[in-house]
Amino acid sequence: MAKVKSKWVCQNCGYETVSYLGRCPDCGHFGSFVEEIVSFAAKTEALKPSNIIDDKSIVSSIKEIELDEKIRFKSGIDELDRTIGGGFVQGSLILLAGDPGIGKSTLVLQTTKNICEIELDNRKLKVLYICAEESPLQVKLRAKRLGVDPENLYLTNQTCVDEIINQIDRLKPDFLIVDSIQSVFCAGIASSSGSVSQIRECTNVLARIAKQKNITTIIIGHVTKEGNIAGPKVLEHMVDCVINFEGDKYRHYRILRCIKNRFGAISEVGVFKMEEDGLTEINSPSKMLIEQTDGACGSAKVATLEGSRVFLHEIQALVGSTNYANPRRVAVGIEYNRLLQNIAVLEKKVGLNLSKQDVYVNVAGGLDIIEPSYDLGLSLAIISSIRDIPISPTTLIIGEVGLLGEIRYVDNIERRLKEAKKLGFKRAIIPAVNEKVYKNIDDIGLEVKQVKKITDAIVEGLRQD
Ligand SMILES: [Zn+2]
Repeated sequence: MAKVKSKWVCQNCGYETVSYLGRCPDCGHFGSFVEEIVSFAAKTEALKPSNIIDDKSIVSSIKEIELDEKIRFKSGIDELDRTIGGGFVQGSLILLAGDPGIGKSTLVLQTTKNICEIELDNRKLKVLYICAEESPLQVKLRAKRLGVDPENLYLTNQTCVDEIINQIDRLKPDFLIVDSIQSVFCAGIASSSGSVSQIRECTNVLARIAKQKNITTIIIGHVTKEGNIAGPKVLEHMVDCVINFEGDKYRHYRILRCIKNRFGAISEVGVFKMEEDGLTEINSPSKMLIEQTDGACGSAKVATLEGSRVFLHEIQALVGSTNYANPRRVAVGIEYNRLLQNIAVLEKKVGLNLSKQDVYVNVAGGLDIIEPSYDLGLSLAIISSIRDIPISPTTLIIGEVGLLGEIRYVDNIERRLKEAKKLGFKRAIIPAVNEKVYKNIDDIGLEVKQVKKITDAIVEGLRQD
């Protein structure tokens, strides 16, 4: 009879202690500790030498190691391939994370359609899909709707990891999809599936199998309300590649963002639209983000960089007198503190009084902007709304606003301007500090105005031709 003992594990970061704690000393979360049973029999089993030592592990000089180009399988979906650096690397472990219901299973199923057509050593790739949350019948129904019907796609609703390994031994797949990691469990661990210990152990086992047998593995993981990958951060360390599927369940656009990649560049993004018959790729996101606007008061166009691509956005501001003692500040799509900072600069350096005004800001199109190059566009949109003067819809505004009211450097200006030119923009307001870096900025074909201070930018931005 195995000895049984319990431990308390933080469900956010995986920190372990022997007794309950109200606040996690590691990640600072409150009330995140859950009691989990540790069975010693399972522990010793996992540590048997035969399970750890891999007969291929020999010491070699770095010079002797041959650089072989890893085989990459193209998913056939350009936006996905771009995000993961040109396709799935054979034998790699990929974590696809996102809110429940956002379309992760749909994306993966659509991917299998093309993966199953790939030939390797004169046979088509075999894909094993572990549908741990749904029955194979439900997956089949979805696949039918998406037009996915290859004969070398195998389904099972097995949820025990040891059984999954048996299935792998029997079928010998080249591709393994686990939907989702929160629903599978390891019999050696007493805690319920979805807990940190279970997720960690199951991923560990799957990672080992992926490397040993050279099976490309996609693990689907749900994220929590706070936007973290449910369960532990440790999951991120155990996989080769982490891609986040973001977007609003109630809006159509989805962004695929790579946040870790051992085989390529990170911060690449792919853009999709969710439709009746699945996800469709959007190759020119800027066009879709700004197409419906005509330059009303309170609107400004900005350009941000996501990976190697330029996205043009429209920032909308609405300023009106308040009925509250504390005026409201609402930011959708940008960081709240960034809005407060920009309002503070406008009050101090431009002399606006916003203490009796509500300020609402929204990024049209529903995508979040992270990099600070939108500051100047945001400030001008606010001023445009206050003064009821429109900013020309063909003017692009780029610049970070410093606390002294100065317009700060933004990188890759040239790329942003070129994208704007392609979409029919005529003017651009950019930071003057960028002058030395881009000498041939005139060749782009836009009327470029360089500004040093926010006050200069207001004059230029609200100029009516
Ligand atoms: Zn923690």
